[in-house]
Amino acid sequence: MQNSFDYIIVGAGSAGCVLARRLIDTQQVTVCLIEAGVSDSNPLIHIPFGVALLSRMTSINWNYNTAPQTQLDNRSLYWPRGKVMGGSSSVNAMCYIRGQYSDYDDWAASGAIGWNAECVIPLFKLSEDNTRGESTFHGVGGPLGVSDLRYHDSLSQAFIASGQSVQLPHISDFNTHERVGVGLYQVSHRNGQRCSTAKGYIAPVKDDPNLTILSNTLVHRVLINEQTAMGVECTIDGSSTQLFANNEVLLCGGAINSPQILMLSGIGDKNHLAKYHIECLSDIPSVGQHLQDHLDVIVQVKCKTASGYALMPRLVPKYIHHAAKYATTRDGLMSSNVAEAGGFAYSQLGTADKPDLQFHFIPGIIVDHGRGIEFDYGFGVHVCHLYPKSQGYIRLQSNSPLAHPEIQPNYLSHPDDLIALVDGVKLAMTMLASSAFSAYTPSPWQPSLPLENMTDEQIIAFIKSQAQTVYHPVGTCRMGQIDDPTTVVDPHCNVKHIKRLRVVDASVMPSIIGGNTNAPTIMIAEKIAQHIIAQLT
Ligand SMILES: Cc1cc2nc3c(=O)[nH]c(=O)nc-3n(C[C@H](O)[C@H](O)[C@H](O)COP(=O)(O)OP(=O)(O)OC[C@H]3O[C@@H](n4cnc5c(N)ncnc54)[C@H](O)[C@@H]3O)c2cc1C
Repeated sequence: MQNSFDYIIVGAGSAGCVLARRLIDTQQVTVCLIEAGVSDSNPLIHIPFGVALLSRMTSINWNYNTAPQTQLDNRSLYWPRGKVMGGSSSVNAMCYIRGQYSDYDDWAASGAIGWNAECVIPLFKLSEDNTRGESTFHGVGGPLGVSDLRYHDSLSQAFIASGQSVQLPHISDFNTHERVGVGLYQVSHRNGQRCSTAKGYIAPVKDDPNLTILSNTLVHRVLINEQTAMGVECTIDGSSTQLFANNEVLLCGGAINSPQILMLSGIGDKNHLAKYHIECLSDIPSVGQHLQDHLDVIVQVKCKTASGYALMPRLVPKYIHHAAKYATTRDGLMSSNVAEAGGFAYSQLGTADKPDLQFHFIPGIIVDHGRGIEFDYGFGVHVCHLYPKSQGYIRLQSNSPLAHPEIQPNYLSHPDDLIALVDGVKLAMTMLASSAFSAYTPSPWQPSLPLENMTDEQIIAFIKSQAQTVYHPVGTCRMGQIDDPTTVVDPHCNVKHIKRLRVVDASVMPSIIGGNTNAPTIMIAEKIAQHIIAQLT
């Protein structure tokens, strides 16, 4: 097998597939795209409604768990991440959200020069093929299919109507400057199917002779000689191999694995590396630090009406009908991403240009990320806090690349984060109790009391016992100026003090953005691809 390539890309996830595609399109370079997981042949990946079952597919998931969280009743939280072609873009909920544009101005102000809103909006548009057509904020012709849902449940419409009870207007596009309100999400779909980055970016070029795709291949470490990345050491089908990069190694392993790979390669805090007998080649204590995530709690009600996406025998004929419909038309219930509607609102801590709460409405009951089952009718609102001040870290627990690193998000270690979530839970409870849902006769389930009968202390106890991740870890290889001790990469994503090595994925975000993180990660890869290609010519 060929063992040297111009570019080696580690991780075929949201970012890695974008870089591979853009480099291949130049027809000037060879690329090896390495993925620890398997191919994306599981049909549940491609049928949007399959998302309801994906958390049970442990073979395409890293199945991480956090360290026990002292502020969350000492619970370890489950953190799913995609281990499959397309990475987490193959297992996510497909909501297409870019964040608040002022988030990018904040990035630039913190030292990520060139990443302000004006610079990044064209990159979001470049990636996009939006069925609504070209506009100030949207693009057409890009690899990432973005579309309106072909189907949504009547409960999602009721959720939008419930916005009136808390003065949240209907918003038809959450990716403009005006996004405080509720509405249906646009989704990363093409023709009624999930459009992961593997599907959108890689499938059209998978047979290109300049592209080598190695799935089922775990990268152990980057090979570094004289502060220069030379290639990677990996296991292919159980045997250890070295692959060499003529130009660069691009780490796209995501916010957990990229810092882990850096540390296994000798880049990180020297005292921490010494503990695991790893020779420190570059002492960068910020590797793995500044972990941020969106903490989320689901307010759920039960109801007696045979509605929504319940697991109830009475609804089986409906599911069979819709499965047949989807097979022929790619339409109907199976084309739903489940998290159909949502919106943005303010807690008492939100500022004018920064709504700090996000909702995802689910027309069904969710137990343990979909791993548990509740045989009943009901629905609920995910409430998440968008700008947490709590920060954590990723650290090694072993020098084995097979071992999971320690994931310590330190949820709610800053008291403001709890204040915002309490406000969010109150808003969600008010919406669920509003007249918009009265036809469904909801009764409180989680929490079990109506808002008027609950004290703040009881709401806090509910949050601490129930909150989970909404799957947006970022910041562990923070981007910014190289003399800033909190950074790992410069504004072109070059790892500090090491030549020919970049990190390009969600881990480089200087601070967490106010929304879902797939589209922003794709945008990051689009920008770095443009930069690398400009250097080629
Ligand atoms: C369940 C879930 C739901 C989500 N819902 C949404 C949503 O609705 N909307 C949204 O915008 N965002 C959502 N997200 C978040 C979003 O998908 C992620 O932020 C984004 O995919 C991160 O991209 P990435 O490139 O950083 O990492 P990933 O896409 O996770 O890619 C990393 C890749 O690297 C591979 N890899 C890691 N280590 C190695 C190694 N050592 N060797 C070889 N390969 C390796 C991994 O297997 C993976 O394929 C969700 C995420 C999850 C998990």
